[in-house]
Amino acid sequence: MTILFGLCFSLPISASPDLGGPAATASAAVAGIGSAELQDVLSSPLRRQLRAPPARAFSEDDLKFWADKARQAHRAAPVARGDASRGYDIIIQIGHYPRKKGKTGGQGKLVNEQEAAALVAVGTVQKLSGLSANGAKIRALLVGADDYTPKLKSKIFLALHTDSSGKSCSLGPSVGYQKVGDASGMHGIALALAITLGLDAEKFMRDNYTAALAGYYAYSDFQTERFKGILEMSELTCERQEAKLLTGAATLSANLATAIQFALRDK
Ligand SMILES: [Zn+2]
Repeated sequence: MTILFGLCFSLPISASPDLGGPAATASAAVAGIGSAELQDVLSSPLRRQLRAPPARAFSEDDLKFWADKARQAHRAAPVARGDASRGYDIIIQIGHYPRKKGKTGGQGKLVNEQEAAALVAVGTVQKLSGLSANGAKIRALLVGADDYTPKLKSKIFLALHTDSSGKSCSLGPSVGYQKVGDASGMHGIALALAITLGLDAEKFMRDNYTAALAGYYAYSDFQTERFKGILEMSELTCERQEAKLLTGAATLSANLATAIQFALRDK
């Protein structure tokens, strides 16, 4: 409920991740993950491939470096409209990008939501460009919030956002998916986020892993074979979460790419 409360009642409109319609509230009570599934993912080969970011202190200069990288990623994000006649393995959406009015996204101390999302999304697509699944290079497409071809086809759709709250540090990262059947595909993605942020993966996946984000506006625009999901990577209005996201962004991109590759494998 924390997630829904944060999204629906305490956000300025610009920070809302575009939830709307009855699905957003009707699905709030759906549990994210059962105990057996949780144990499966925690003991999966994927977990051994994911790595925590180096545990070291970071300085103001480090933060400035990553904030600059985020702005640079936002300026030069290689988004495309996409081609509906070809199938992609994964479509990654940069939340709110590049809107200048309406739901433009949240604001942190160092970066805004679009910049934080661009930093991780561009890094993930770069990592994926060097990876294969089932013997073929992974075909990834990066899209913005609105300017994409209707009915794009892919195996996976993943939107990257950050959360905001009027009460700083009252929210954490969270993971949502479109419907219950999509939960299994999002397990690895959730695990990648938890491990990158140094969270207790088991606790994170029990508490912050729900269908509360089922009403995401873009889900109906994409024809997705396996699963659709959204990551609220951190609460950007919380200074320490913003710092952790920025300094962990490269690791998060690498871990997300690994989790996506894992989810794409033929079973
Ligand atoms: Zn958002």
